Amino acid sequence: MDPDFRAHAHEIVDWIADYLEEIERFPVASQVHPGDILNRLPGAPPDHGEPFDAILKDFESIIVPGMTHWQHPSFFAYFPANSSPPSLYAEMLTAALGAQCMSWVTSPSAAELEERMMQWLRDMWGLPREWDGVIQDTASTATLCSILTAREVRSKNAINRRGFSSKDRFTVYCSAEAHSSIEKAVRIAGIGRENLRKIGVDDNFAMRPELLEEAIRRDADAGYTPLCVVDALGTTGSTAVDPLERIGAIARRHGLWLHVDAAFAGTALVLPEYRHLLNGIDCADTMVINPHKWMFTNFDCSAYFVKDPDALVGTFEILPEYLKTHERSEVNNYRDWGIQLGRRFRALKLWFVIRTYGVEGIRAKVREHIRIASELAENIRNEKDFDILAPVWCNVICFRYHPAGVSEGEQLNALNMSLMERLNASGKLYISHTKLDGKVALRLVLGQSNVEERHASAAWQMIVRTARE
Ligand code: PLP
Repeated sequence: MDPDFRAHAHEIVDWIADYLEEIERFPVASQVHPGDILNRLPGAPPDHGEPFDAILKDFESIIVPGMTHWQHPSFFAYFPANSSPPSLYAEMLTAALGAQCMSWVTSPSAAELEERMMQWLRDMWGLPREWDGVIQDTASTATLCSILTAREVRSKNAINRRGFSSKDRFTVYCSAEAHSSIEKAVRIAGIGRENLRKIGVDDNFAMRPELLEEAIRRDADAGYTPLCVVDALGTTGSTAVDPLERIGAIARRHGLWLHVDAAFAGTALVLPEYRHLLNGIDCADTMVINPHKWMFTNFDCSAYFVKDPDALVGTFEILPEYLKTHERSEVNNYRDWGIQLGRRFRALKLWFVIRTYGVEGIRAKVREHIRIASELAENIRNEKDFDILAPVWCNVICFRYHPAGVSEGEQLNALNMSLMERLNASGKLYISHTKLDGKVALRLVLGQSNVEERHASAAWQMIVRTARE
């Protein structure tokens, strides 16, 4: 072992502890300009090794200022990529083990812990007991796996074998509010962007099932093969929930594969009071929820559930001689449950997180986020010059500033964009935006691991003050 390892590693742990303790002193969003960091990095690598102290010093002076601090409790933008001490401990151990966990034999603990963690998550979230699961890097990958599996099940593995023929005219359906990862998956799966039908939404930004059914019928009549529908359990823009029960019934009636994208909001299923969102789940084939968004587990960690693991493995399994092992029939070789061969040991951080907090501890944190969001939403509603633009059922608030005399349209949108830029430039908080029904909406997500009521109310006071200025 490197004789300096222990001292350097301790120094790093101290750095991490100081960073996390003092994180509120950093500007939430990085304040650098394009090229600022690049210009401070030498164009060529060093010919000879450099000392640890010099590297750490440059990390602090060059890299840290160019970081947006996702673990800052006033990070309200996008969806969080939250973390926690137990998750960090496990990430450190994972790095130390440095294992590449492609097959059971390359680290039996990794494979078997992953199997068990996916069962724990399945039960914590109230998903069907007969489902299996696998950890993917991201929801985008999980959705791609789902659409590829749908394609192979429908074509009886013909596309994997011979590629597309002119007869394979598949169509895929999602709401107009669904995440861009679905369109990306459709493109990568060779189905073609033009064959993705973005179905209209209702006043709550949820898919309208009657429009879905109409579109499926129209496509079938026109000679297409309707393949798959993606139901959003919490859209990115506003956490709209597509009506799973009705969409599931339509999918079943027309023989479509059903994937549920619950990447962010799915974590709310840990609360029994949200289990009604799963009505209709029996019609689903696959589902994705990201513990790396809202379940205190470092990026990346995406839980992908499947009703039929054989269909998944049938799509991805490939067995060259050098990967053959004896135990194949007794164990899960997760390299066959997704796209890449090499796999990180991601189950360890889930194990640390779930054991440290327990299911009740996770519930308490998630409930608290939802409570803070609902109080903040109430405050926003009480101000005459602010609008709430979408239902607030979990911890995401879409709102805008709408002073008297500014009419609907470009001027109001531009006002809100400039308000957001002013707020973010302050470094005191970080929010993002979306467009709902053509209206610019500012998004506040109360999901950062350490967010407290005081952060939400400081943010709100600053938003009101800056807007009225
Ligand atoms: N689905 C939804 C609803 C999302 O909000 C996101 C990202 O925010 C994704 C999928 C993609 O997530 P990932 O970054 O894990 O691919």
